Formats: sequence, structure tokens, C-alpha cells
Amino acid sequence: MAKRTSIMDAHTVSKKLSITRVRVAVRLRPYMEKGEDKICVRGLDSQSLQIINWRNQMETMQYQFDAFYGDTATQREIYTGSVYPILSHLLIGQNASVFAYGPTGAGKTHTMLGNPNQPGVIPRAVRDLLQMTRAATEENWIYSITMSYVEIYQEKVMDLLEPKNKDLPIREDKDHNILIPGVTQKTINNFSDFDEHFIPASQNRTVACTKLNDRSSRSHAVLLIKVQKTQQVPPFRQLTGKLYLIDLAGSEDNRRTGNQGIRLKESGAINSSLFTLSKVVDALNQGLPRIPYRDSKLTRLLQDSLGGSAHSVMITNIAPEQNYYFDTLTALNFAAKSKQIINKPFSQETTFSVLFTSSVQPTMKRPREDADTTAPSQKLKKTKSDSVDESPDSCNESVRKHKLNLASLDPSVVERLLKLDKILTEKGRMETQLLSTPKRERMALLKKWEESQMEIERLKEKQKELEEKALAAEARLEKSNSSDLDFSDSSVSESMFRVPLRSRATSTAKAKKVLRVLPLQGLTNQSNIQEEVIPVVKKSRRKKASSGQENEPSWEVTMRSDVVQSGREKILHLLNNGSIKELKSLQKIGDKKAKLIVGWREHNGPFKMVEDLAIMEGMSAKLVSSFLKANILSIVAS
Ligand code: ADP
Ligand code: MG
Repeated sequence: MAKRTSIMDAHTVSKKLSITRVRVAVRLRPYMEKGEDKICVRGLDSQSLQIINWRNQMETMQYQFDAFYGDTATQREIYTGSVYPILSHLLIGQNASVFAYGPTGAGKTHTMLGNPNQPGVIPRAVRDLLQMTRAATEENWIYSITMSYVEIYQEKVMDLLEPKNKDLPIREDKDHNILIPGVTQKTINNFSDFDEHFIPASQNRTVACTKLNDRSSRSHAVLLIKVQKTQQVPPFRQLTGKLYLIDLAGSEDNRRTGNQGIRLKESGAINSSLFTLSKVVDALNQGLPRIPYRDSKLTRLLQDSLGGSAHSVMITNIAPEQNYYFDTLTALNFAAKSKQIINKPFSQETTFSVLFTSSVQPTMKRPREDADTTAPSQKLKKTKSDSVDESPDSCNESVRKHKLNLASLDPSVVERLLKLDKILTEKGRMETQLLSTPKRERMALLKKWEESQMEIERLKEKQKELEEKALAAEARLEKSNSSDLDFSDSSVSESMFRVPLRSRATSTAKAKKVLRVLPLQGLTNQSNIQEEVIPVVKKSRRKKASSGQENEPSWEVTMRSDVVQSGREKILHLLNNGSIKELKSLQKIGDKKAKLIVGWREHNGPFKMVEDLAIMEGMSAKLVSSFLKANILSIVAS
């Protein structure tokens, strides 16, 4: 009972907290290549780095992160800067995760585990958590720490503390806590307890050789440290904070590492898991509503400890050698997806000879304030090196050498780089728009959009309603007025401009189209049915009638034939009897044409039909058609 209350408590606490994004740190390991490989990446300051642009070696690409650790950064600096600050949250029942990402050989295991002389994140965090719980002096509360250690290999969860537990399930309880039923949990009271369990378990990890590294890990090693805080008096509340410390599998490209057969399959599984992780981090940092946790075992396991109220840090490990160029770029782009790249021009003081030909300490010549004042407009900022423009010989030499080296890249790698570049350019464009809009504004815009959608729905409903009313009114009128043509002022529009029943019967779409000519905003006056049927006279898109008679006014299809007939007769009467002045009152008939009409009828006798006008000089069937169209409505109404 007590446990139940406590879980609910912890859950409520976490629900109330605002969402925190995944912090991204990048660590550059020291130059280690024995051969003549060049350096292609270097730090700029405590948050940013630059890498040569493979497409144009006169340019560099600059990336900014929450933290950047250069090749001289110590294990302690990384730990105190990016990991230690999140540990205190575990003592109040919140979750956290730290994971090392990057290509094989770039320093993930060194960062997470380290060695006895340079202990990494895992031993430091365990030691400090033990100390913190010991030092906590809250009355009537006690702390306990347990550990579990699993490996995710080919989308299967294996228990490293008890290797016979293979393919363990991952479940979610009703309070949305993620758990692995059946996984071994060991209590650790001191650091030697931890050592005792951890060291043999580490040896159980699946490792295999690849071309890049002798002991390359191709599985995800997941260490779970649970901190439990239990109340010793009623109501015996219990808070649980989970810390995941993860050494991820290498992010390198299969083709480059020469993985074959089963290993290629393993890499495929690793990569799909990493790919999902990248999507999850991306979605979290963009504040997207759907996070694809369920798409891989790794992210499913991390669901309650990545995003939400959890505190997460991703340490992306990269190597400086050109040999790693492609994998470094891929890793940086993964990490940078969640970042905005600042717009900083390449420093005048930095020369290519310093930049790319030797292992160098990052120089910090650029003032940090730049980062705050420039617009975060691009994911990748490509900048021309001013120093190269000045072309000192040494720089050119360096650039030339570098060019040659990059030119020797495997063609398949170049092809992939081009694809990656294209995807990123497109994605960058989209994301920049999203990311450059502050969250609050985005929410307001979304709300507005939802409101307008609702309004549109409402208006559509109204329009439908009005259409039905119009049809009903029309049917009524059709019944009562079918034979007489009442041109009195009050009824003229109703009786004359409605859609002929015949055309509606043969073409509903056409009839509907005619009825819908009013814009939505015009449909607010529900009672004015006349207005809805007024714009009946619409020119049909059919140019010629099927009979082939060009002079058949195509717009007639939208008018009642008796109305048209009456109009024609009135016009014909005017043509045969009207004075020049009366003729000039017709649309499209000027002084010249009026005189011609009078002369023609005196010479040839009366017109037999309006279309006879086409015989006259300066007239044509087309002109007669438009003459009729222009006059028929006004003449029947007059
Ligand atoms: P990964 O786990 O990413 O495959 P490793 O951690 O095994 O890479 O690192 C590869 C090699 O580089 C190891 O010999 C490791 O000791 C060394 N190394 C990595 N990072 C550093 C560093 N920051 N300082 C010194 N050596 C490092
Ligand atoms: Mg490793």
C-alpha cells in the first residue's frame, strides 16, 4: 500500500515538472593516429568547434553545443561539467540518463568507464551517489542504491549480471514506469560492492573485431543505478530515481568498417537503434508531440528517463583524424540536430596551417558574446576563411595538401556525403523555421490555427444548410411558377436566375457549382436565399455545342430557356424597330453600329433572328454571342 502511494507521488511530481530537453556535449579525443593522417576538426571555444567542409576546403562548418570539450579536457572536467549537476535530481525521485555516442575508437568507453588512472563517468557517478545518499540527513528517510547491468544486442536485452537471462522483456506499469521484469538487481552499499559486480559483468559484453578498433563494441551497454528513498514512518512513502549510464554501440558506417555477414546484420540492428535514438532526441528537442520511443528496444527502455521530467546528457565522442572524417560529420550532425548553429565568421587569426596540419590546442580568440548576438539562423554555417583569401603561401600549401587527402576519399563515401548534405540542407531549412520560432509563439500559432479550422468547419456547415434551403426554395418556386414569367421588380431575380431543373437533373455537379459561387463570408445572411441563386449566369466552359454551331450562346445552359427566348424576341424587336438612339442604348452598340443596323434593315428588310447581325460588316458570330450575353438580362428585366 505504502509503495503504491509513493509511486503515485513520484509520478505526480514528475508530471508537474516542465519538460527538459537533452543536453548535448561533444568531446574531441586527442590525436592518436600513428601514420600521417591530418586533423580535420578542432575546437573554437567551450561550446563550439569547426570542421573542414569536404565540398569546399576554403570553408569550414561550425557547430555549437551545450558544451564542447577539447582534446586536452580531463575526465574530471567532463564529469563535473556535464554529469555531476544532474545527480542531485535522483535523490528526489527523478530520472536521468547519460549516454556516450560516436564512432568506434572515438572515446565512448574511455568517457564512460575510463581506466584506473583516469576513471570515467560511471565510477565517478557511483562514488558520488553513494556519498550523497550517505550525507543526506533528512529525518526518518533512508536511501538505498541498487544496480542492474544489461546489454542490448541485436534488439535483445541481455542481463550482464546473470548471462543466462537472455532476451528480457521491457514493460511499462500503469504509472508509466519502464521496467525489465526478471532483471538482476544488486544492492550496493559501498564502492567495492559495485566493483565486485561490475567488473565480471563487463567481461560478459559481446565484443568483436572491426577494422577500426580491436575491441569494438557493437552492442549498447546499459548500466542502471536506482536510488530509492524510503520514509521510515507512516505513510512510508518511497521515491525512486533511476540513472542510466550508457555506452552506446559505435555509430560508424558499415561499409567503411568492412563489416560482413553477421556483423553487417549486427551493425544494421545497432544502427536502427541509434537511428531511433536520433529521432527521439530530435523530437524531444523540437518539442514534437509524438516521440518514437517504441521504435527500438533502447529508446523504449529509456522512455521514462529521456525527455519528460528526466535529465539527460548525450556526450558525443569524436576523433580528430581525417580518417574519421565521415563518421565525425555524421556524429556531429546527429548531435547538432538538437542545436542551433550560430552564425560566426571564421576568425581572421586562425590560419589553415595551424588549423589542419598539426594537433593543436583549441585557441579561444573569439569572444563568447558573439554567440548571443548573432541570429541562430542555420544548422550549418559555412564561412569563407579570410586568411585563405589573403593567400599566404603556407596556408595555400596546407589547403592543397588537405585537398589531396580529401580527394582520396572512397567514391562511395563521397556519394553518401552528397546525400547527407542534401538531406541536411532540406531538413535544416525546415527545422530552422521551427526552431527559430520560440515555443510560446509556436503554441499561440497552433491555437490560432485550430481556431480557424473550427471556424472553417462551422462555415462549411452553414453553407451546406443554406444550400439545402436554396434548393428547397427553388423547388417550391419551380412548382408555383413553372409557366409564367413574372418580371416584376420583387421577383425578378428569383424567377429568372435560377438553375434550370433540366440541367440540375443531368449534371448535379454543375448545379452545385452554380449554387456555390458565393464566398464563405457571404453566407452569413441565412434568410437571403435570392442572393444565393443570383449568380446563375455563368459562362459554360464548353466552347462549342456538340452540334458544332459556333453561334449558339454557350451560357444559355445556365438559364431557363423561356427566359432566353423572351430576351431574344425583345432584342430582335428592337433591332428591327428601334431608332438609332434606342439601338445605342444596347450594350456593345455604338453610333457606327446603330447606323449600320438601321441601314441594313432598310436595305434587306427585318432581321429574322438576332444571329443575322453576324452578316453585317464588322460583326462575327462571337461578337453576336457576347452582344446577346451583354443585353439579354437587362432587356428582359426592363
Ligand atoms: P570507443 O569506446 O568509442 O570505441 P575507446 O574509448 O575505446 O573508444 O577509445 C579508443 C582509444 O582511444 C582507447 O585506447 C582509449 O584509451 C583512447 N582514448 C579515447 N579517448 C581518450 C582521451 N580523451 N584521452 C586519452 N585517450 C583516449
Ligand atoms: Mg567502446
